[in-house]
Amino acid sequence: MKFYQQTRLQRIATLVAEGQLTAQEAAFFKTNTGLTQEAADQLIENQLTTFALPEGVARGVQVDGHVHTVPMVTEEPSVIAAASHGAKLLALAGGVQTTIQQRAMVGQVILQPITPAQLAQVQAATAQLAQVANAAHPSIVARGGGVDRIRYRQLDVQTVSLDLIVDVQEAMGANMLNSMLEAVAAVLRQQFDVTVLMSILSNYATTSLVTATGQVPVASLARTGQTGAQVAAGIVNASHIAQIDPYRAATHNKGLMNGIDAVVMASGNDWRAIESGAQAYAARDGQYRGLSTWHIRGEQLVGSLTLPLPVGYVGGAIRVLPAAQPNLALMGVHSAKALASVIAAVGLGQNLAALHALVTSGIQKGHMALQAKSLAATAGATPEEVPLVAAQLQQAPRMDLATAAALLQELRQ
Ligand code: NDP
Repeated sequence: MKFYQQTRLQRIATLVAEGQLTAQEAAFFKTNTGLTQEAADQLIENQLTTFALPEGVARGVQVDGHVHTVPMVTEEPSVIAAASHGAKLLALAGGVQTTIQQRAMVGQVILQPITPAQLAQVQAATAQLAQVANAAHPSIVARGGGVDRIRYRQLDVQTVSLDLIVDVQEAMGANMLNSMLEAVAAVLRQQFDVTVLMSILSNYATTSLVTATGQVPVASLARTGQTGAQVAAGIVNASHIAQIDPYRAATHNKGLMNGIDAVVMASGNDWRAIESGAQAYAARDGQYRGLSTWHIRGEQLVGSLTLPLPVGYVGGAIRVLPAAQPNLALMGVHSAKALASVIAAVGLGQNLAALHALVTSGIQKGHMALQAKSLAATAGATPEEVPLVAAQLQQAPRMDLATAAALLQELRQ
């Protein structure tokens, strides 16, 4: 039986049999009820309850020569099916390759107003400011990280951003960077009499860019009534439209962020940080564009996706959210870089699957099959009844909750 046809418990047993889950991890996935109210109360303010979301896995995600089973947290039907489909297509030609030039966080101390003479004084003290920053979080230096460099950007005639670029090692680094920035700001105020408007990290993490590339044999894209070459040409055109039209680009990027956010959430990372960085990067040349592009090279459809992925492997909510560490173990990643590579690869596959559906059968066909299941369950169908109601619902003239309820009633008579 295929993985997606198995029951939840059968899937967990399959992962154990494949050696992807230990017995202990399997026990966690079987019985996990999420955050306790007490842990939730420690995380946020004015806590009332917890809010659960489904988690599933995309299988066969091949990244840099390793095959990963990737946990994804999402409430949207068809995201995981599409991620798996995209990964399968990309695996036909060796999977996804990733490159990470650098992994560092950027933070800003905004100096305003500042005169050219004051700026010259501050610039002359750059080495001292780097020392101040490192002294504010010495443990990151002990771990082999710390300040990489400081740069200055003139934002307008009286405003300069002092950018602190920090190697945050395995953490996302927001808190450690903010401590460093505030220490630098304090010295600038006290010793240089400069007005500091604010200091905070930037989520536009251009020093944590990840590129995922992959290819698919054009012939494998063929569908009934369309040759592989026609489908590939459609995907290339669709990717071009996302480069020239922000209306399309927003949806193109939403589609690939469906996959990226789902893995970021499963890993316990801050998905708003990743979203804001990705969206800013999509507009980096002044026009908002698709984050990924596709072109044809010989017999292959070749795709590339670049975005900032400053995710952490430790720290933040990773240590608090109960599923985060078991998910990282299941994903088979052991560093922030490896996690970022898997996330980018899922994004590329998600994008491929979405574009493939759009230029062939359309997005609704796949969506509707899953939507039918979801409507059947919402109408009150038991797990045994769901496939029966969903199958009839797809044949019905209208696919809505009322029809699902009526079909369920009929079935039970
Ligand atoms: P933490 O404050 O949890 O800091 C990381 C922790 O990991 C440190 O305590 C560090 O220990 C520890 N650590 C252990 N091993 C390593 C290692 N190998 N490399 C690096 N650190 C290690 O989290 P972050 O500073 O990463 O900040 C992330 C959090 O900040 C997220 O929850 C995010 O939501 C939040 N945040 C985000 C903002 C934004 O995006 N704009 C703004 C503010 C907060 P040690 O101290 O001993 O080095």
